[in-house]
Amino acid sequence: MARCPDCNKFVSYDTDQEPEVDVDIDEDGQVTGSIRIFDACSECGTELRETTLDISEDMSEACEGHLAEDATEPPAKFVVQTRGGESKVWKNVANLTPFDSETDAEVALAGLVKAEGIEYRIEPVEGDEGGVEHSLSVEAEEITRDEKKVKGKTVYVVTVKLSVKCDCSPAFEAEATWTDEVAASDLEGLS
Ligand SMILES: [Zn+2]
Ligand SMILES: [Zn+2]
Repeated sequence: MARCPDCNKFVSYDTDQEPEVDVDIDEDGQVTGSIRIFDACSECGTELRETTLDISEDMSEACEGHLAEDATEPPAKFVVQTRGGESKVWKNVANLTPFDSETDAEVALAGLVKAEGIEYRIEPVEGDEGGVEHSLSVEAEEITRDEKKVKGKTVYVVTVKLSVKCDCSPAFEAEATWTDEVAASDLEGLS
């Protein structure tokens, strides 16, 4: 029982309130977030007490295989660079677009008219084509809240089914179930 500030009556708690969940996932598959559990007034529905639990679920093992499998390296390209004079900075030789092979770059380098005191080199660079962009996302699909008695005290048990997907393909899906519990008496009054 509690006194509701809205009805101004002693009322029982309406515990049939679905928790509010907020979850996020990092690029490796670590899920973090929070879940807010609250009880309302059984007469008027005003929220009376609440608590927030942290959600933390390591789903990196479930994601690891997928993150590795599709991640084809973009094809390497090669550029011819120079530096010299005052400048210590390597710069791409103007008018030479990146080459598909090191051999092509060597041929181009051999054909250059080289100035004295200027250094030349061939460097691989990553192409910007090819490869798969992974982007994990997570959703709380099923949220349940039950209660049990532990030594005469009410304990709320919350369970969240986490569903992980990747932007690169609808074929990938990973799931985990996160659960935690909190004593009803640990909820804090809202008024
Ligand atoms: Zn009320
Ligand atoms: Zn992916």
